Amino acid sequence: MTIDLIIKNGMIAMEGEGMVNADLAIEGGRITAMGANLNGKSAEKVIDATGMQVLPGAIDPHSHTNDPGYLNREDFAHAGRAALLGGVTTYIEMPLVKDIDDETSLKERINDGNKSALTDFSVYAGFIREKNYGAVKGLSKMGAMAFKIFTCRPFQASDDTIYKIEEETAATNSIATFHAEDETIINLMTNRLASRRDQIAVHEARPPEGEASAIHRVGIYSRLTHSPIHIAHLSSEMGAQTIRELKRLKVDITSETCPHYLIFTRKDVEKLGPYIKMSPSLKSSNDVDALWAALDDGTVEMVATDHAPGTRAEKEIGWEDPWKAWGGVPGLATMFPLLYTYGFIKGRLSLNSLLKVSSSNAASRFGLRGKGKLTVGNSADVIIIDPKYERKVEGADLYKAGYSPFDGMMLKGWPKYVIRRGELVVEDWELIAKPGSGRYIKMER
Ligand SMILES: [Zn+2]
Repeated sequence: MTIDLIIKNGMIAMEGEGMVNADLAIEGGRITAMGANLNGKSAEKVIDATGMQVLPGAIDPHSHTNDPGYLNREDFAHAGRAALLGGVTTYIEMPLVKDIDDETSLKERINDGNKSALTDFSVYAGFIREKNYGAVKGLSKMGAMAFKIFTCRPFQASDDTIYKIEEETAATNSIATFHAEDETIINLMTNRLASRRDQIAVHEARPPEGEASAIHRVGIYSRLTHSPIHIAHLSSEMGAQTIRELKRLKVDITSETCPHYLIFTRKDVEKLGPYIKMSPSLKSSNDVDALWAALDDGTVEMVATDHAPGTRAEKEIGWEDPWKAWGGVPGLATMFPLLYTYGFIKGRLSLNSLLKVSSSNAASRFGLRGKGKLTVGNSADVIIIDPKYERKVEGADLYKAGYSPFDGMMLKGWPKYVIRRGELVVEDWELIAKPGSGRYIKMER
């Protein structure tokens, strides 16, 4: 339930202005006033945020949380708890196995979410390929204005189809989002490395050149089709360089990287093995540095979790045969604390960059109106952080899958309070909201 609320004496993080000491008032789910000494007498609740930082709720533009085929791994309610405890108030739900490619499947996903989500959510359509690209027009009218396409297996669309999909997304001003890795390169490398059982082989099979090649192709197509495009889970310096080149060629391209590509390298694979298997693969420490730099200089606009947990058993099997391990990691709870601790505190992200890559850029690119910034009139999605508080990552508590690849890391940036659309949903680092309080948010571009 939304309440009238005043946050007093906090340091409010504002793009372009830094941290501003002010109060913030919330009524009917929206921010109604910001300024010095707002009168809190009429509010139902006053939060004293002295010494604390007040930021917009984080937005994760890419999460897999409710594929009906995979409810043993994740669901809206568990994912929503993890998200809110980590400061994510909105995420964009992406399919995993069950396609969202017609009115019925989209409505089903929206209904599932409205029944049990804790965060606000939008819905990606996909996976789009030969058989279903005719659905783009209808789905974009229903608010799914972003479409996921693979340039490689297991959901590969042919180059011919990719071109035609981009024509459809251009016509509706929707976004064509790519899992961009070159199938020819992956296939060739995988066959050559197939007899190896060490943990690094699965990463070597997906080199940065494969990423650069696929990004280049879909980007150059976009020069002709004029489709807005987005690169999912960017993992390499070469990929970022290719994006810079496409931007110079005036391609309407944005991208996201993920916390795992900002923290881990192939060296970590020896210890964590299948628990950090995902695709695209992990790269080198040079790539890690280059991705932080690309986030801070605006080449890469946002960070996404690509939250896709497998069960422990599906990971454990990989110690014997890494090719068989589930590829994908949980990440909703740790995205913001990792960006805060390893980006903002370590000086790799300015405050402005932190605000953009964790929230406002995703809101503006994907048309999440009223989200992403603390401004009067906007949705009251707010996180309040005690900068001195730190806590160890405990995947056993955070996730249905029972582990996190970041288990044991000490992080700051866990919000003491979270307000989602005016409702206090986390208080003293504990979830107090009920499943079903999250709402579907249409993309409007
Ligand atoms: Zn994904």
